[in-house]
Amino acid sequence: MLHKRPRLNTDYTGRCGNCHARIGEDAYCRYCGTKAGEGSFAPYEDRFQCVYGPPPVMRKHTCMACGYAWENSAMIDREKFCPQCGGEVTAEVTEEPFGRGRKPFGEE
Ligand SMILES: [Zn+2]
Ligand SMILES: [Zn+2]
Repeated sequence: MLHKRPRLNTDYTGRCGNCHARIGEDAYCRYCGTKAGEGSFAPYEDRFQCVYGPPPVMRKHTCMACGYAWENSAMIDREKFCPQCGGEVTAEVTEEPFGRGRKPFGEE
């Protein structure tokens, strides 16, 4: 017998209590700005997210409040909040996929 029901997950280890995105050790969720340890912690549907879109692009995020900056590469940029202070961040594309500009690998 095959039961097709959504798997509800309540494991919030390393996740945002509001939008259940993975936040790891961050103090604030990068996606919704909720402080770590806060939120409704509602059971969420643990489904595989299939994302179709453009290839990953390297982006540099800079917090407008505290200046914390980090880079990530994602197809769709949904990181809008600083993981350190929860402030709003700006994002700029720093490297196109398969572009020129190879970064030096270590310094000797
Ligand atoms: Zn969140
Ligand atoms: Zn910040």
